[in-house]
Amino acid sequence: MSAEKFTILQLGHPHLRLIARNVENIKSDNIQNFIDDLLHYVSEVNGMGISAPQVDHSLRLFIMSSKPNTRYPHAPSMQPTVIINPEIISVAKKVEKDWEGCLSVPSIRALVPRHPSIIARYTTRNGEQVEATYSGFLARVFQHELDHLNGIVFIDRVEDNHDMMAEQEWLKLISQR
Ligand code: ZN
Repeated sequence: MSAEKFTILQLGHPHLRLIARNVENIKSDNIQNFIDDLLHYVSEVNGMGISAPQVDHSLRLFIMSSKPNTRYPHAPSMQPTVIINPEIISVAKKVEKDWEGCLSVPSIRALVPRHPSIIARYTTRNGEQVEATYSGFLARVFQHELDHLNGIVFIDRVEDNHDMMAEQEWLKLISQR
């Protein structure tokens, strides 16, 4: 298995705009092998998350994989988690803006409004239904990845063009923090 197995669809590719279909047969070899490949891939590219549609699999499945790095020094550490057929069952009413980027939208960063805490329900790769509460950065990652399953990319949610930056300028900004 290697990163060459997948190509990340880039903004403008029509498949990024599809509504993905529910994952059936979670325990099939097909799905389990795909999950293994995607876990391997997300660690290779150091992503905070990746969704199946981004690698051209129109399935309601994503991986959350947060750990601190130079871009997100305050990101929590978590084991990569496979999220299948997710739904958000409740949200904190308010929204907060913070920076996001995306493997499918290279070189752009933007302030995106998201709910700072959510309760989510999803199925694990073992087929169990679970409920989880996420807040802060992880709530943000979850909402970002769930959007991909509905054909939405983060720049769709940007409220003001002045909330967008080239990566190069954004790096200067965060290094001053
Ligand atoms: Zn993304």
